[in-house]
Amino acid sequence: QTVSRPGAGAQQVPLPLDVGAIRADFPILTRTVRDGKRLVYLDSGATSQKPRSVLDAERWFYENINAAPHRGAHQLAEEATGAYEEARAKIGAFIGAPEREIVFTRNTTEAINLVAYALSNAVTAKEPEFRTYAVGQGDEIVVTEMEHHADLIPWQQLCERTGATLRWLGLTDDGRLDLSNLAEVINERTKLVAVTQQSNILGTINPIGEIVARAREVGALVLVDGAQSVPHQPVDVTELGADLLVFSGHKMLGPTGVGVLWGRYEVLDKLPPFLTGGSMIEVVRMEGSTFMPPPQRFEAGVPMTAQVVGLGAAVDYLQALGMAKVEEHEKALTGYALAKLAEIPGVTVIGPADTVARGGAVSFTVEDIHPHDVGQVLDDLGIAVRVGHHCAWPVVRRYGVPATTRATFYVHTGYDDIDALADGIREAQRFFG
Ligand code: PLP
Repeated sequence: QTVSRPGAGAQQVPLPLDVGAIRADFPILTRTVRDGKRLVYLDSGATSQKPRSVLDAERWFYENINAAPHRGAHQLAEEATGAYEEARAKIGAFIGAPEREIVFTRNTTEAINLVAYALSNAVTAKEPEFRTYAVGQGDEIVVTEMEHHADLIPWQQLCERTGATLRWLGLTDDGRLDLSNLAEVINERTKLVAVTQQSNILGTINPIGEIVARAREVGALVLVDGAQSVPHQPVDVTELGADLLVFSGHKMLGPTGVGVLWGRYEVLDKLPPFLTGGSMIEVVRMEGSTFMPPPQRFEAGVPMTAQVVGLGAAVDYLQALGMAKVEEHEKALTGYALAKLAEIPGVTVIGPADTVARGGAVSFTVEDIHPHDVGQVLDDLGIAVRVGHHCAWPVVRRYGVPATTRATFYVHTGYDDIDALADGIREAQRFFG
């Protein structure tokens, strides 16, 4: 079990972001909870709050140009299509990708399922180029022991459908990926490696470059789960080197109901569709149909247009702050939180003890108090955290704990929020002690 004990004394280094000004942009942060208490929102890792500009963008869409994009010849349809495609270009630019490589999905979970189903649909595809990445018996899919269930179950299911074998990289005692057997786990049989860039439970930032380099040696595809990285650090797909990247709008100040699959065009172009129906087709006859090129091939049905426009506004908001500053902000908060928690006897952090390759997901246990009880006391104080296995059950099992309490930070988080958390934990200890 990994124990976080950084040097004594929590230091409040100046924060790069103006927390007071940012909080004023988030209407929900003005409300009180639990009989008039300030909302201390430390659950952005589950879903982020939304600035006014994102709420306004969605409202603007519905009040002014609401129509189904890519259909209809009227002015509204034209304007809705324009807004949808403009957001696609903006969201692509945010991660250094051209718009034709951006596919909109419902969330990260759906984006991963899209790829997993495409790889099994490939087995029976009638178009020879769609069979390029077909997965079958004798093939291997590689994941890691720290994946969110969204990046684990779809691969388990793919293996069950196709007869392929699931392999995984394990974890070290200090909460990092164990790469000591990388060359053995990723081998000539590997078809795809799926790895998270930033762990939602441990906070660990993984060495994607090293994994990509090994995958390249054996010709395997690499899918990076960016659900916890794209919202919190600069991510550029040209530097990442992977083939596919997935993330969720709702975790990066955007609306729920919109996620992104980025794929290198050559890869997307060889994948068969996952969902089929309207607007992804080229020619339809009763005997059979042909499909559009990416990204349309993967966007069947009327899309989540207002949400995509809202996500475009979220990207504008984050870009105005600067992603390097967002990352630096959270690093300062994480260092402070680790030091504050280390001062409380009986508190154990599960995850890396330093902020070198670590994001702002801080999971911990409090000796002799169940995480649900810790969460309950914190909630009574107006502090929102997450408790449980955080959809990463193998991780809590690996570290021998039933569950953890997790605090996650974002652009509106300040030192006062972390002080409130530390005081709340002490309160829980008094209550249950
Ligand atoms: N991957 C990681 C690392 C996550 O933290 C999450 C959500 O918490 C997901 C995937 C799934 O995201 P969603 O529920 O938006 O599909």
